[in-house]
Amino acid sequence: MKITQVEPIHLRVPVVEEIPDGTLDVLVVRIHTDAGITGIGEVTSQSYVCKACFDAPRSAARRHGLTSILVGEDPLDVERLWGRMYYETNRYGRRGAAIHAISGADIALWDIRGQVEGRPVCELLGGNYRQTVRAYASVLFGNTPEETATLSRQFVDLGLTAAKFGWGPFGKDADVDVAHVRAARDVLGPERDLMVDAGHAWDVRTAVSRAKLLAPFHLAWLEEPLSQDDRRGYAELCRNSPVKIAAGEGDVTHWDFEDLIERGVHVIQPDVAFCGGLTVCRRVSDLCARAGRQPVPHCFSTGINLAASLHWMASVPDGDLVEYCLRPSPLMRKLVRNLPPLVNGRVAVPSGPGLGIELDEDILREFRVSY
Ligand code: MG
Repeated sequence: MKITQVEPIHLRVPVVEEIPDGTLDVLVVRIHTDAGITGIGEVTSQSYVCKACFDAPRSAARRHGLTSILVGEDPLDVERLWGRMYYETNRYGRRGAAIHAISGADIALWDIRGQVEGRPVCELLGGNYRQTVRAYASVLFGNTPEETATLSRQFVDLGLTAAKFGWGPFGKDADVDVAHVRAARDVLGPERDLMVDAGHAWDVRTAVSRAKLLAPFHLAWLEEPLSQDDRRGYAELCRNSPVKIAAGEGDVTHWDFEDLIERGVHVIQPDVAFCGGLTVCRRVSDLCARAGRQPVPHCFSTGINLAASLHWMASVPDGDLVEYCLRPSPLMRKLVRNLPPLVNGRVAVPSGPGLGIELDEDILREFRVSY
């Protein structure tokens, strides 16, 4: 079996606001084979740049475009192809856009392998531990504590058992931070999980003192309080924080996550459509299992990312949590025709074979960027 064509498809809604929202502009990747089987993947990054990572022609050693590396290869040899894509883009890759682009190809290759073997991707990744995964919703904090309380009420009404608030007014003033977290906790009650994303707001000293201030509200985790590159800061924070620290949505390859684990980060958050794909995610959950850490996917783009994240979590013995995006963008809500819905705070893992998803061709046509 051979790869015959790699199709990076750039989708973009007409108005892309400058907000932290991965549902507005995405790169879908379809890989076609000579057996008539097509795999689907996604890249959540700068779509123009990542499309160029596919389309670039062959060049001198280790600076090729991804399509030129993949066409003619056996798609079932997924981990070897990850290694080839990583190494043959090495001069411009290793981190950043090239790895983000590799994620889309890698997800599509796992989808092909699942379809060929007639099994869901979670089984190929190592197990099928659950049919549904517990969801948590994440939103920006409201502008006022009252607005944060209203959002919390909506989550309760949707049947969610966990919610995360972040960014917005949070991080600038200790009293304001406490007021927002108290408002959320009061509505969610003691039985639901509450997480806070601090949006890189602090230095280590502020983060330690804020973690102590927020500890009475029993946060399940405090996410990204520091710059993503302040690795020594994370080590110091994790030694001193009474609240679990989460990070990793900006990291790529298992080497980055190995480093986060060694620094002491408690909750490890790769994004499958950004970190290097399911091949990287599987390595990360193996690292987490050995180190006693919790992997939880960052997932805030389309139903392709959601499906891949669900398969990953279904394959991890204690992986019963996924981020569930509630944004209204058609790229999130309609691109995948059989988008797994939220039912009683849980989301069903598509049963496969492969990822078990189908794309809506009308949405692909409507939002495709022509070059
Ligand atoms: Mg975050």
